[in-house]
Parts: sequence; C-alpha cells; structure tokens
Amino acid sequence: MRTVITGGAGFVGSHLCERFLAEGHEVVCLDNLLTGNRRNIAHLLDRPKFSFLEHNISEPVAIDGPVDNILHFASPASPADYLAHPIATLKVGSLGTHNALGLAKAKNARFLLASTSEVYGDPEVHPQREDYWGNVNPIGPRGCYDEAKRFAEAITMAYHRFHGVKSRIVRIFNTYGPRMRLNDGRVLPAFMGQVLRGEPITVFGKGDQTRSFCYVTDLVDGIYRLLQADFSEPVNIGNPSEITVLELAKEIIAMVPGTKSTIDYCDLPQDDPKRRKPDITRAQTLLGWNPTIDRAEGLKRTLEYFKTVL
Ligand code: UDP
Repeated sequence: MRTVITGGAGFVGSHLCERFLAEGHEVVCLDNLLTGNRRNIAHLLDRPKFSFLEHNISEPVAIDGPVDNILHFASPASPADYLAHPIATLKVGSLGTHNALGLAKAKNARFLLASTSEVYGDPEVHPQREDYWGNVNPIGPRGCYDEAKRFAEAITMAYHRFHGVKSRIVRIFNTYGPRMRLNDGRVLPAFMGQVLRGEPITVFGKGDQTRSFCYVTDLVDGIYRLLQADFSEPVNIGNPSEITVLELAKEIIAMVPGTKSTIDYCDLPQDDPKRRKPDITRAQTLLGWNPTIDRAEGLKRTLEYFKTVL
C-alpha cells in the first residue's frame, strides 16, 4: 500500500504518518509547512518507506508511480490560524481538495477527506449527528474554514457520484495531544502554556460554552478504520465526553500544583459555537470504534509533551 498524506507534517497528519508506517504502508507526506513543521516528522525522515515533499496542494501536484490511498489533511485548522490565513484556508479546502481528488481519480486511489465539526457551525441540534446540516455563518470570521470544508465535502461527494472515486469523509471534533503547537491559539495548548508559565488563564466569555476533546491516537484509529470501510457518507470521530471551557481550565490548573495562574475572563469571539459534542453512533456501529483514552490520561500525556517544548 502506498499512501499520500497531505498536511502530513501537521499535528494530526504526523500521527497519521506514524500509524500508516506502522501498518506497513509506504507514506508520501506532502506539506507546505504553513502551519505544519519539519520537527513533527524529523523522526520519520530516515525510514525507507517514508518520503517528504514540500508542496502546496492548492497547486497541482504530480506523484510518480502507483498510489493506493490519499488522505487530505492539509489546512490551517485552529481559529487563530485560519483567521491569520483566510485565503490559504479557502484555497486548500477548495482548490486543494480538487487537486487531491484529481490525483485520486488519476491513480484510482481511495480518497479520505479531513472534514470537521465546524460544518455544523453553532449547532442547534445537540449532540451533533451526521444528518444535521448545520448552522454556519458564511461571512463571519469562521466562514473561511467552515465553508471551505463544506465545499470540500460537496466536491468529494461529486467525485464519488460522478467519477466513482472511492471516498470517505471524517468529521473531526476537537482533538488534542503531543505536537499541537503551543501557540496555535486553541484552548488546550493556550491553557497548558499559561499554567506552565504561571500566567493568567484566558477563558473566553463566561466559559460556559462546551467542547468534547478526543485524544489524537483515538482519532487516528477511527480514521484508519474508516479508510478500510466501504462507506462514503460523513462519519463523526470525536470523544463525546463534554466539558465546559471553565471546567477544563480548572482541570488543567489542578494538574500543576502551586501554579500562580488565575482565571482571566476575556471577550468571547464572534460566532463561537456554544455547545459541541459528537453523536458517535455511526462510528460505533459501522467501524466498531470507541475512544479509549479518557481526558485525565490524555491531558497528562499532553502536559508532559508541552513541558518539553516550553
Ligand atoms: N477558548 C478560550 N480561551 C482560549 C482559547 C479558546 O476560552 O485561550 C475557548 C473558545 O472561545 C472556544 C473553546 O475554547 O469556546 C475552544 O476553542 P478552540 O480555539 O480550541 O477551538 P474551537 O473548538 O472553537 O474550534
């Protein structure tokens, strides 16, 4: 099996590269290093079955030889990142997905799209099931990411229906773990960095908004299973254990005894989803998948990682 992973030098992408190598695949990692980093794949570069190509998938790409699978994970993915790079985000979700699908069609490869819980926007249905169409503000600050991913799902289904490309769509909910960037603006690295430095914890709004956090290796396992399944409609992968942002802040403060960090309430960003929790019935029944790492264990492993990069 030869597997191309776009965004392979990013947080989730680098864990995918590791898993597919461990499963015996040859892995071709594509990344333009906009938010990814060579450090994330440095330990893989001398593996004979691993190769790295610095390339922006929003530009057409040529890959020599056969390709069996294409996993399209390239995109800025934290709110701070896609606010800083709105056009690159729109391009990689649209042109990038088109190019990756074109490659899948030419190589007769299976195609797996990294989609997101952001397609549900600020959801009016809770928990979110795959048949919910969402509540997205197309012209708000998150529109560049949400609409790019909605377009990416639409073009993936079009290639599936019109060209017969074997496609999969994973809707990824909040994921965390080693190799997240400390400064990517997401809540978990932000709080962990703040607590380790003894700075105030920046809780946005009252902190009563909720998220549900999945440890990265659980996500990767769900993706690996989905690729093997014969199912082209979207599948949520996420950990349904829901927590408010304020509770998360308290859990992280409690992990660093003696920290000087206190809670600093800041403005809530526009269109910040109020509640988010995946309904994972489809992944459970279709893939036999369930998350295995609970938040206590996942947070512990992630804090250990952040200590090494602070
Ligand atoms: N958040 C926060 N403080 C921060 C960063 C984020 O309170 O320093 C909140 C944010 O408003 C949101 C939640 O944490 O409600 C998750 O934000 P994140 O940027 O991690 O991703 P999102 O789930 O919104 O895409």
